[in-house]
Amino acid sequence: MEKVLKKKLKVGISECCFGAKVRYNGKGFDYVKNFGRENEQFVFYPMCPECLAGLGVPRTPISIKGGSGQDVLEGKAKIKNKTGEDVTEKLIKACNFCLELLKSEDIYIYMYKEGSPSCGVYRTTLKDKRLGNPPGVLGAMLLKEGFFLVCADDLESPIKRWDIRRRLNAFVWAREVEIENKNQLYNVWHALKFLCQELDEKAARSLGNKLSNLNDTQKEDIEKYRQLILDIIRKPSNLSRIKAWLWKNYSYYRKYKGIELDIVKEPTDLRSNTILAEELIKLENKLYNEGYSFGSSPILYRGKR
Ligand code: SF4
Repeated sequence: MEKVLKKKLKVGISECCFGAKVRYNGKGFDYVKNFGRENEQFVFYPMCPECLAGLGVPRTPISIKGGSGQDVLEGKAKIKNKTGEDVTEKLIKACNFCLELLKSEDIYIYMYKEGSPSCGVYRTTLKDKRLGNPPGVLGAMLLKEGFFLVCADDLESPIKRWDIRRRLNAFVWAREVEIENKNQLYNVWHALKFLCQELDEKAARSLGNKLSNLNDTQKEDIEKYRQLILDIIRKPSNLSRIKAWLWKNYSYYRKYKGIELDIVKEPTDLRSNTILAEELIKLENKLYNEGYSFGSSPILYRGKR
């Protein structure tokens, strides 16, 4: 079972995060530049629901009135602009267009701009610490369809970026790898279990127990277990767990090979998150080149550059 991704990942992205000046105030952000050379791993599909709804740039800001984006889709809330104009129908149509486009291209990863009544997932406003009425309209659709959702603001943090890439790789691999029988399911779990343990130890332990008690597996059971693995991989890690796993991976290597590497500092050494992310990448590359797998980032991208 090859644990390497060779094809580029297709990613839908809120257009204002891709450098396009399409926000209501004519501004935009380039979050993708943070990937640097790693950018080559992705093919981006930028889209702006509010532009596609014909609202123009610049435009009067819109907001959800009377509920969340999900309520809008269920006919229980409205989208209005600041002058009171009802743009609900136009916006739903545009969000449906975006979703159909994503699905027709078999895209199930989306990098969204948080704080928007259209693209936001956990907030629909950026004002103060308020959350607004999450999710936004497109955000609600993407959640329902089981997309791997990445908050574009997180791409500015080197550690979060590393975490996002390794989970994306694992997610795509786990979603697409052929699993026909119990043995193949075990092999997939074996490849991903250390990552899953890091992300959600309780869920991983429960899943591991269920798998070890499996009898005959039907196709639908296999897909059910695949979904449980994907659900764990959607969850982000945090700095302390990532640091602990870096040291654990390195300690295994050091013990097994009997050699020290100067690319990983002691856990107690102070260093920036940028340096820490570099250590992670260097160690996972070194292990890959020597034929080992880095337990907490088991699936790497090795496409043509
Ligand atoms: S958040 Fe979404 S709707 Fe708003 S400008 Fe960005 S892409 Fe367009």
